[in-house]
Amino acid sequence: MKILVAVKRVIDYNVQIRVKEDGTGIVTDNVKMSTNPPDDNAIEEAVKIKESGKATEVVAVSVGEEKAQETVRKALAVGADRGILVKVEGIIEPLAVSKILQKIVDKEKPDLVFMGKQAIDDDCNQTGQMLAALLNWPQATFASKIEVKDKTLEVTREVDEGLETIEVNLPAIVTCDLRLNEPRYASLPNIMKAKKKPIEQINASDLGIDTKPRIEQIKVEEPPKRKAGIKVASVEELVQKLKNEAKVI
Ligand code: AMP
Repeated sequence: MKILVAVKRVIDYNVQIRVKEDGTGIVTDNVKMSTNPPDDNAIEEAVKIKESGKATEVVAVSVGEEKAQETVRKALAVGADRGILVKVEGIIEPLAVSKILQKIVDKEKPDLVFMGKQAIDDDCNQTGQMLAALLNWPQATFASKIEVKDKTLEVTREVDEGLETIEVNLPAIVTCDLRLNEPRYASLPNIMKAKKKPIEQINASDLGIDTKPRIEQIKVEEPPKRKAGIKVASVEELVQKLKNEAKVI
């Protein structure tokens, strides 16, 4: 079984995001970038499945600028066998990413595609679903447990009501939740070994896909500053304030 894993390069989740003064976007110069957190879970799960003997190859793919190669390299350092970088300049939206991934799936013919449930930069939660629709494959989103069966997968999904367990036929798209596993750290020897693993570079324009954004971003602004909270001395005082000042009870 071959597993393809989509990994996106995003601003590191620890970075305090700053809006550009002219409101045209957020500051990205000299800002730490990392793998989108749920994509680390996706890679971890694929590597674990390979280690259990149920998969033979894990391929990491990223769509983005030249620097997204670092994200692919990190996936190689934690156990992916080889990488693919599809190069695109500027902003790329989920529809274009899913069309590109469809081409990569046509070429690589994986049995399973793992992705993150959501990218923390655009918060779209769309790419996996769109890819499943384009390929006409079953999808299991927000996976917090995955069991590989013979020709199917049993997936536990984190849904609003709690947990839902479904079975999907392979090939399938699975989007991974943060609770799926604990991603490992790359050891120094594995980082060194990853430098020798191959990364194929493809230009998105050679795939014949129009990557022009369909959404025009008009303005980006900071959310209103939150007012400082207050401490109350007793439950009685809290109830009195909720009743008479906040008027919520
Ligand atoms: P989104 O739909 O943007 O919230 O992204 C959901 C998931 O799709 C991410 O967690 C990634 O696994 C994958 N994805 C989105 N954009 C890219 C990209 N540019 N390169 C690789 N994978 C991506």
